[in-house]
Amino acid sequence: MSRYQILVFPENCTGCMRCMLSCSRQYFKIFNPAISRICVQLSGIDCAITFTDECNHCGICADGCFFGALSKQVEEKTK
Ligand code: SF4
Ligand code: SF4
Repeated sequence: MSRYQILVFPENCTGCMRCMLSCSRQYFKIFNPAISRICVQLSGIDCAITFTDECNHCGICADGCFFGALSKQVEEKTK
C-alpha cells in the first residue's frame, strides 16, 4: 500500500466530517468521527486538522475531502 504525506489546508475546511467518517469506516467498520485517526476541530472561523499517532498515511481521508482541505503526496521511500 502506498503511503502519503497528507497536506492540510484548514482554510478550506467546511467541517463536513467526511474525512473522519472515511477513516473510521475503513479501520473500525463504523461511522464514528470520535475514533478516527484524523481530527478536525472547528472553532468559529478557526480550524485545526491533526492526526493521531496511529495514522498510517493511507490517504483515504484525503480522497474523501471534496473541498480542497486535504491533499496527498506520495511519500519518498527511505532506504
Ligand atoms: S491517512 Fe489514513 S489512517 Fe491517516 S487519518 Fe487519513 S484515512 Fe486515517
Ligand atoms: S472532509 Fe475536508 S472539508 Fe470535510 S471536515 Fe474533512 S478536511 Fe474538512
